[in-house]
Amino acid sequence: MKLAKSVLIAGQKIKVKLVADLQDADGKMLWGVFYADANLICIDQDAPHVGRVFFHECCHAALAYTGANIGLSTEREEQIVTALEYALFDLVAKMKDE
Ligand SMILES: [Zn+2]
Repeated sequence: MKLAKSVLIAGQKIKVKLVADLQDADGKMLWGVFYADANLICIDQDAPHVGRVFFHECCHAALAYTGANIGLSTEREEQIVTALEYALFDLVAKMKDE
């Protein structure tokens, strides 16, 4: 899947990069990650569903840039983002600009 080089979420321009061997600071393999401080989303080029992973990271960005994640634990934010991903991805994937 071809991804945009950047997206606009809640008025913030976010760079998007496809990368190899994406890992967290502990060396755990990741399919995607949103870096709020860098306005950057990285997606592992070998993620099984790149578009879905990208949408998931956009949901993290939406929570961060709207302040909706304030006070949430990492686990609770992940639950909310995963719920949004499963509830909305198919809808969003079918939308087209007209
Ligand atoms: Zn997540």
